[in-house]
Amino acid sequence: MESIHRPTRAIISAGAIKSNIQKEMVHIPEGTEVFAVIKANAYGHGAVPVANIAANAGVSGFGVATMDEAIELREAGITLPILILSSVSPQYLHLLQEYNLSSTLISLEWWQKAQSYVQNLHSNQPIKLHIKIDTGMNRVGFSDEEEALKVIRELENSPAFEWEGIFTHFATADEVDDSHYKDQLAKFENFYEKLPRIPRYVHLSNTATSLWREEKIGNMVRFGIGIYGLNPSGKAIQEELGLTPALQLESRIIQCKKVAKDSKIGYGATYTSEQAEWIGTVPIGYADGWLRALQGFSVLVKGQRCEIVGRVCMDQMMIRLPFAVAEGTKVTLIGPDGDDEIFIQDLAEYLGTVNYEVACLISERVPRFYA
Ligand SMILES: *Cc1c(COP(=O)(O)O)cnc(C)c1O
Repeated sequence: MESIHRPTRAIISAGAIKSNIQKEMVHIPEGTEVFAVIKANAYGHGAVPVANIAANAGVSGFGVATMDEAIELREAGITLPILILSSVSPQYLHLLQEYNLSSTLISLEWWQKAQSYVQNLHSNQPIKLHIKIDTGMNRVGFSDEEEALKVIRELENSPAFEWEGIFTHFATADEVDDSHYKDQLAKFENFYEKLPRIPRYVHLSNTATSLWREEKIGNMVRFGIGIYGLNPSGKAIQEELGLTPALQLESRIIQCKKVAKDSKIGYGATYTSEQAEWIGTVPIGYADGWLRALQGFSVLVKGQRCEIVGRVCMDQMMIRLPFAVAEGTKVTLIGPDGDDEIFIQDLAEYLGTVNYEVACLISERVPRFYA
């Protein structure tokens, strides 16, 4: 449940999202469409609001991970095409019809199972499928060209289905070394030559591919992390579009107290003050996605870095302040304050992970406000 009667909140910039999408549109080849990837609650940014902002910015459709994410968008009134990027159990084919969704055809086995469900469908609306070719990620998709071509022939002859797209996904487009990427691309290009016809959508690129690899045969990009102003490579490759981080996370000091030298702070008494210190309590904790492992990381108060001291609790944490502050003083956990700024990437590096994961961690308890 969202906790709105608490000063902890995420502020999401509609302007940043819009400008990130528009920069991508200018960057990609003429005639290439953008599908905004808004799976996992738009990488923590809020699926429905981000979908509306992205639709206004001119995207052609959306990519999601699950049937439920797709249904959420339809129920919120989103009418643009929605592609579920991975396999949906064939028993839910009727939902693809009911909500006018596209899904991914990943294997011969899936295709064969799907046959037994089409007989029970009530509508004549063809079910739109994108064939996924596994060119070397080894997650989902056809690895065998002959098998994929056989299914495509059957798909073309099945009135219950419509062959709407074909795609692949690169495992290393966000890395400096492009050798595996080139192998994958060659495999896809080779397969592409053998297609009996070209379907409506051909899409190879995620954000990283569209930013840093030349790609000639696609007509749509699956633009995810870039929407949110985050660099898919972390810091490995410079991002030249000038994307703007869309999310800020802030809270307020709920109590500030002076502790004597040698005071213990928090569960486990893992921090001992070296001198008399000002300690501020902030109402955010690991249940908000502000992980326990962030002990020792810093947040901003009045433009100054303040270390998180003691263990992060489930709902609160303590920071060491350079001075006394009033209850209600703003704390910036992600975003700019004064001359300083904390980036999601800084958290990712501290936690030994990627910016994607940090964005997804911010839990439902934190209300999202759109500015
Ligand atoms: C998540 C996802 C994307 C988006 O990737 P970004 O790196 O966020 O741009 C694209 N394609 C597929 C298949 C995905 O699962």
